[in-house]
Amino acid sequence: MTPKLSGRVVLVTGGNSGIGLAMAEACAAEGARIVLWGRNGDKNDRAVAGLRDGGAVADAFVCDVTDPDAVRNTFAASVATAGQIDAAFANAGATGRGIPFLELDLAEWRRVVTTNLDGTFLTLQAAARHMIERGNGGALVAVSSVSAIHGAAGNEAYGSSKTALLGLVRALAVGLARHQIRVNALLPGWTITDMSGGGYANERFRTATTSRTPVRRWAEPSEMGPAAVYLADPTVTFHTGDTMVVDGGYSVF
Ligand code: NDP
Repeated sequence: MTPKLSGRVVLVTGGNSGIGLAMAEACAAEGARIVLWGRNGDKNDRAVAGLRDGGAVADAFVCDVTDPDAVRNTFAASVATAGQIDAAFANAGATGRGIPFLELDLAEWRRVVTTNLDGTFLTLQAAARHMIERGNGGALVAVSSVSAIHGAAGNEAYGSSKTALLGLVRALAVGLARHQIRVNALLPGWTITDMSGGGYANERFRTATTSRTPVRRWAEPSEMGPAAVYLADPTVTFHTGDTMVVDGGYSVF
């Protein structure tokens, strides 16, 4: 069987660890060429080395997605290297530091919102411009969170920014459909990564969240891979404007 993403190029921001790297690995296993972005060059190098060891064609670029010039220049460099971008996952994200809402200051609020919302806006805008100019359609994905459904008590900037991504995705799905560009959101549930490691290590929190998850455990990052492949698959031509929840049933329990 022909790999689903053969001949396609997939960009993953925040692709050097966790869910982003797992999505990149899954897309690479289906034949995609991978472009990763992250701020940390060492993490980028390790991720690319792992992908190449697995037989993938992969490149990484240092890019802070909150910096408009960096996004513009890195997108151009990515296309110059890989030739095209067929699917873009705006996955880079930041979470709160457990600061109570009444003590949250604007700088801390903006640190999270700027990464999650502005970074996604800049990434998807650059990708959409490229895809329209190229005239070959494509897939845009914003990595949101189940906190867009149930809120994120104690992590208000995170929950707000992840909810805002659903509005962005729905607007873009309508606006870009005429260009054969599909736009969807992926909403992972609790997943064991660097970002969530503190919560996972906290036994009380882990037990509380696990007991609210019908499959009775947190996800491994690799469990987001199949959804990423599906969302990038060019044969999936009618699925746009959606919020794909991959949470072990957390949001319906
Ligand atoms: P990780 O900490 O493993 O990954 C976060 C990634 O984002 C890293 O690759 C990091 O790389 C990158 N990143 C952070 N800030 C920036 C920036 N300004 N510019 C570019 N890259 C940046 O955590 P996860 O894999 O958990 O997170 C990935 C996404 O999944 C996030 O959007 C997160 O909100 C979402 N998510 C996670 C859940 C979970 O339970 N883990 C649940 C729901 C959603 P670097 O530091 O090198 O920049």
